[in-house]
Amino acid sequence: MATNKQEKLHRLQEKYIDQLPDKVEKINKSWQSILQGNLAELEQLQLLVHTLAGSAGTFGFPAISDDARSIEETLRTYDSNMQVSEVKALVTNALQRIGNHVELGPDKPPSKLKKIITTPEINTTQQLIYVIEDDELLAKEISSQLSYYDYNVKTFTDSNSAIESTRKNAPTIMIIDVHLEGSIISGPEFASLYNEVSDKHIPSIFISSRDDWQARLSAVKANGCAYLTKPLDFNELLERLDRLTYRHEPEPLKVLIVDDMVVLAQHYAIVLTNAGMNVKIVSDVNELLDVLSDFQPELILMDVYMPQCTGFEAAKVIRQKDELLSVPIVFLSTESDPVKHLSAMKIGGDDFLQKPINDEHLVTAVRTRTERFRHLRSLMHNDGLTGLLNHVSIKSQLEMEIFRTRRQRKPLSFAMLDIDHFKQVNDTYGHPAGDRVIKSVARMLSKRMRKSDHIGRYGGEEFAIILPETGIENARSVLDDLRQNFSQIVQQSNENQFNCTFSVGVAEISQHDTVDSLIEAADTALYDAKRSGRDCVRTK
Ligand code: GH3
Ligand code: MG
Ligand code: MG
Repeated sequence: MATNKQEKLHRLQEKYIDQLPDKVEKINKSWQSILQGNLAELEQLQLLVHTLAGSAGTFGFPAISDDARSIEETLRTYDSNMQVSEVKALVTNALQRIGNHVELGPDKPPSKLKKIITTPEINTTQQLIYVIEDDELLAKEISSQLSYYDYNVKTFTDSNSAIESTRKNAPTIMIIDVHLEGSIISGPEFASLYNEVSDKHIPSIFISSRDDWQARLSAVKANGCAYLTKPLDFNELLERLDRLTYRHEPEPLKVLIVDDMVVLAQHYAIVLTNAGMNVKIVSDVNELLDVLSDFQPELILMDVYMPQCTGFEAAKVIRQKDELLSVPIVFLSTESDPVKHLSAMKIGGDDFLQKPINDEHLVTAVRTRTERFRHLRSLMHNDGLTGLLNHVSIKSQLEMEIFRTRRQRKPLSFAMLDIDHFKQVNDTYGHPAGDRVIKSVARMLSKRMRKSDHIGRYGGEEFAIILPETGIENARSVLDDLRQNFSQIVQQSNENQFNCTFSVGVAEISQHDTVDSLIEAADTALYDAKRSGRDCVRTK
């Protein structure tokens, strides 16, 4: 993978080298014309050397960048005084050196891409969980409870059959009873033996009806990562599993590059992609708003000098949109004047990086800022109990999705889900048990809905779900499936086991085209569902 990207970098450099003589020729012509008294040409020349200063270094010509920058500085300082012979000499000499460097070719090949080590993604469906439990009924119950959350489970009632099976399908997690009736070895012995021969460590969760020191110690010695006593609390078991499986790679950081110079933008894109980021390029600012709403970047890397508008102006337009107020904007410019940097900060730019920028520095600068943004955003936008989007965020997400859906002429469904008789749950089993039920709904939705769907906690025991590119019939059937599954889930509170249900109302964008009317329609459908006896899905 890295070599492929390395090749691409090479090709970009070649492309740049091909274009370079023309660029320099243009600069020379422009300078000659100024020397002949055509001062109107000055602005054009400044733009040309500016672009050259910002790009040459990246493609292996640092000396050209330096000379171009010094020309730029000279022109800026002396522009009212163009006939001064000293200035003429400075620019002419610098242009001469640039010409020589073009002839000589690049000082260095494109930077070496560092190999990025990524951990493989672990997700629920790739998990194979072994349940080794001599109580067949309990084994089955664990299996069915976990399958509601899309976990892949195999059950065994003795250690021998489990060992048999590991040859074909090795587990990724094991749930093992400490005492295995009818097996020659105990659960902890099985786990230790298995981990000794297997090439990677498989985490084990031990379950037992014993709560004594010896039993617990045996689990610890076998490197168990949890010890749960029977009767089993499925919510606790699921939370342990979540923690083990949630180690998956976070979503790649999303970065948008806005630069009219395509080769340069592509160079940055390759470098950032190689560092594991998801990168898109906009080279024509007219496309900017559409790409922003489709891609929803977590950082915008913005060129300052572009033909249609400056990067500062583009940033102002971006900041006009509420939902884009907090996305960090980092300007990339050859500008070294601190006063200009300050004025960029005032209009809501977050930082300035100076071109040409070294690849490693680019990656670090982008990564730290993007991660910080993601963290702050999650504090602001996510609900503390469930981790889902909060009320405000799910609504603004809906607004964005409606905007996109209209433009792309695709369907979109929206659902409101409310737990049935939830007050009774609190009254009967206590508030903490109620909280666990809320979390189990959240967990099921997160595991079972598609990645492209958005799930929010709309209020206490009410959830909102956005299903982009989904017609109402589809949405209804997906949610009805979940509803059926949810009603089977065993909820636990101390010694008590109980079941809960929820009701859902679904509406589709085609009939209701504003955020408010869509929410209202889903709400009315939910009300219908409640009135017709709860534990069902209704559409509007
Ligand atoms: P219905 O089937 O009609 O929806 O009846 P319900 O009892 O679920 O609805 P109602 O709106 O009367 O009661 C909702 C209850 O949810 C009231 C409130 O105390 C409780 N609740 C709200 N937020 C939370 C929370 O975060 N945790 C817990 N445990 N309870 C909550
Ligand atoms: Mg309710
Ligand atoms: Mg309610």
